[in-house]
Amino acid sequence: MKILVLNAGSSSVKYQLFNMANNAVLASGMIEQIGEKESMAKIKYKDADDVEHKREQKCAIPDHDEALKWMSQALIHSGVIKDLNDLDGIGHRVVQGGASFQEPAMVNEYVMSEIERLIPLGPLHNPGHLAGMRVAVHQSPNVPQVAIFDTAFHSTLPKYAYMYAIPYKYYDDLRIRRYGFHGTSHRYIVKEAAKYLKQDVNTLNAITLHLGNGASVAAIENGKSVDTSMGLTPLEGLIMGTRSGDIDPAILFYLARKRGLTLDDLDKMLNKESGLKGICGSNDMREITQMAEEGDEKAQLARDMFNYRLKKYIGSYSAVLGRVDCIVFTGGIGENDSGVRLKSCENLENFGIKIDPLLNEMRSSDILQISAPDSKVKVLVIPTNEELEIAMETMEMIEKHH
Ligand code: ADP
Repeated sequence: MKILVLNAGSSSVKYQLFNMANNAVLASGMIEQIGEKESMAKIKYKDADDVEHKREQKCAIPDHDEALKWMSQALIHSGVIKDLNDLDGIGHRVVQGGASFQEPAMVNEYVMSEIERLIPLGPLHNPGHLAGMRVAVHQSPNVPQVAIFDTAFHSTLPKYAYMYAIPYKYYDDLRIRRYGFHGTSHRYIVKEAAKYLKQDVNTLNAITLHLGNGASVAAIENGKSVDTSMGLTPLEGLIMGTRSGDIDPAILFYLARKRGLTLDDLDKMLNKESGLKGICGSNDMREITQMAEEGDEKAQLARDMFNYRLKKYIGSYSAVLGRVDCIVFTGGIGENDSGVRLKSCENLENFGIKIDPLLNEMRSSDILQISAPDSKVKVLVIPTNEELEIAMETMEMIEKHH
C-alpha cells in the first residue's frame, strides 16, 4: 500500500510517500514560497536499488494547484508511482479540528466545509490545509483521502480540564476551550513507549514532552490524553521558540494602556517575538546553548526559564496522573538536548523520577531509556514521526471504509 502524506500550509506543501508494507519512505520533499516570484520545489527519493536521489528546482509556482502538479510529476518521473491512481490513499495533516473531529475523517464536501468553518479557531493553519485538500481531491478524485487532526488525540480531555474559567457564554457561543495540539506526535510516542515497555497502551500512564520550535506536554492516562499544555491556540503552556506560553493575561491590558499596543501588535509580540527569542534574541536551542556556553547571561536565563517551566508541568501532570509509568522526551530539543532533559527532571526523586547522567548523554536514532535503574518512572527519548503516524491512521481509516 502506498500512502502519500500532505502537510499543506498557506505558502508551502510538505509531502512524504510511504510504502506501508515496511513503513519505508519512498520519496519526500517540499514546495516553498508558493505565490512568490520565485518558489523552491524539492524531491528526494530512492530508486529500485535503494540509491538516494535529490532534485531541486527554482521556478514560479503561483498556487497550491501548481504545487501539487509539480509534486505529482516529480513523483511519477522519479518512478516511485506510475500515476496518481497508483496511490492507495492521501493523508492530510490538519491542525485545528475543534470539537467536530475526535478521530480521522474521510475527506468529503462536509468535512471540508467543517474545516473551513473552523478557520477562526485555526487562522494560521486551516486555510492552507484546505487549499491543499481541495486541490488534491480535484486532481486525484479516485484516491481515498483522510484528514488527520492535531487536536483529535486531546478530545478525551475531561470537561473540567478543557474549560477556561471565563463566562460560560463564551464556551456556548464561540466554543472557547482548550483543544490542545501536536496530538499526532503525542499519540505516536505513547504507542511507541508502550511497545518499548511491553505494556498495553490502554494501561499506560505517561507524560509526553514534545519539544520542538512549538512545544507541548500531555498527561496520558490509560493511553488517553487527559490534559495538555496548549489551549485554544498553540500559544499556551511551555516557553517555545518565539511563543511566550503561559503568562498573566493582565500583562496585555497593561501593555495596551502603557504603550498603546494594538491587538495585532500583542498577537505578534506573543506569537513571534516572545519565548526563547524574546529573552535572548535566538529561537534556536542549539545556538542558545552555544551562546550560554560562551557566557551570554540572557541565553543562560532563557535555558533556565525553559527548563523551569517544563519542570513545573512535569510536577503538575504527575499530580494529575497519580501514577506515572514513563516520561517521554521528543522533538528537536527533546531528542537532542541532554541538558534540558537533565535539568527539567532534576530533584524529582520524590516523584519517582531519576535520570542517569551517563545514559542521558548517549545518542541513538532509536529509543533510548535514560532513567536510572532505581527510577520508578521510566524516562525515555523517542524520536517522533508525525508523518508515519498520519500514514498509519490514513491506512487504518481506508481499510475500515472498504
Ligand atoms: P519543529 O517544531 O519546527 O518541527 P523541531 O522539532 O525540528 O522543530 O525542533 C527545533 C528545535 O530543536 C530548535 O530549537 C533546534 O535548535 C533544536 N535542536 C535540533 N537539534 C538539536 C541539537 N542537536 N541539540 C539541541 N537542540 C537541537
